[in-house]
Amino acid sequence: MSKSKIWLSSPHMGGTELEYIQEAFDTNWIAPEGTNISEFEQDLENYLSQNLFVTALSSATAAIHLGLILLNVKPNDVVICQSLTFSASANPILYLGATPVFVDSEPETWNLCPIALEEAILDTISKGQKPKAIITVHLYGVPYKIEEIRAVANKYKIPILEDSAEALGSGYKGQKCGTFGDISVFSFNGNKIITTSGGGAIITSNYQLKQKIQFLASQAKDKAPHYQHSELGYNYQMSNICAGIGRGQMKVLDKHITLRRAMHDFYVSLFENIPGITVFTTADPDSFANYWLTSILVNPNETKNGINRETIRLALLDSNIECRPLWKPMHLQPLYKNYPFYGTKIAETLFEKGLSLPSGSNLTDLDRDRIKMAFIKLLE
Ligand SMILES: *Cc1c(COP(=O)(O)O)cnc(C)c1O
Repeated sequence: MSKSKIWLSSPHMGGTELEYIQEAFDTNWIAPEGTNISEFEQDLENYLSQNLFVTALSSATAAIHLGLILLNVKPNDVVICQSLTFSASANPILYLGATPVFVDSEPETWNLCPIALEEAILDTISKGQKPKAIITVHLYGVPYKIEEIRAVANKYKIPILEDSAEALGSGYKGQKCGTFGDISVFSFNGNKIITTSGGGAIITSNYQLKQKIQFLASQAKDKAPHYQHSELGYNYQMSNICAGIGRGQMKVLDKHITLRRAMHDFYVSLFENIPGITVFTTADPDSFANYWLTSILVNPNETKNGINRETIRLALLDSNIECRPLWKPMHLQPLYKNYPFYGTKIAETLFEKGLSLPSGSNLTDLDRDRIKMAFIKLLE
């Protein structure tokens, strides 16, 4: 009997999503406008509880693009970005004709290293250019070193664009991720902790910026009876149908976080006495991780028979269980290899040893048993 696939992270509906979609049909707001959008934005604003303004968009990639525009990034400007991340964190820098400068991770949070960050800023300034923005990431839902990074950014007066795509529900000292940037973004792609099938949001500190985003995201139409444009616009709004899914998903967000964290606990106990395999866990008691994905580091010098991350990935694939190596650092990508990089080999080593494991909130006891058996077969 062939067993069904266990996914890394698949959509998990809460049950009320269709009611909001029905509402959109009943009122005929099958458009990038309607009450699902304003209510979804309101739900997110309430959840963040920092008097910030949320604008729903078509994706986090679009949100980062508009965020960089609001931060006035122009062709040939320099933008600093964490290297160990998904390409969507960095691609909007190139959309704008700006130059990405990549920075290494530190080993505790796997995110931006404050020392390498300062080195990158000083070296860029010494070459006659001050970076326009710093793109920070909370990888796999683990908060970066919030205070250290903010201190460096403030010292050089460079704004932070916080890529919180993976970290909805994570936090630091009781404050939610998505509120630490000068501008922040979330993703609601199908594989994220909640989904709108595809979508994103941008978080700003004032209403004027929200209005500017809404203007740019809806083709930058000037006030006129005809269509008139004095600025370059984009078609980046979220659909009222997708926002309906989002409203339903917001009702189960906290439950999803609890379940993702339970998956993390499951792996911690599974690998407790297994030499050479460590589960990525926040060391900082002030940090709260949603553990969007649980990842392990595999050290072949210590594992049984020198098993490495690729042996594990293939063995699990054989049991129809999806795993994925960590994000390949941007400075090692063919597309980005000629741009500056500051740091050592932290991100590179994490990439070589790291593997993300099935982490969805919809995994069952049966799924966990299959995962456990696959590892036992391999390691004992
Ligand atoms: C998923 C993701 C994005 C992109 O989100 P989309 O909504 O798919 O555009 C950006 N950055 C990070 C770190 C992500 O994980």
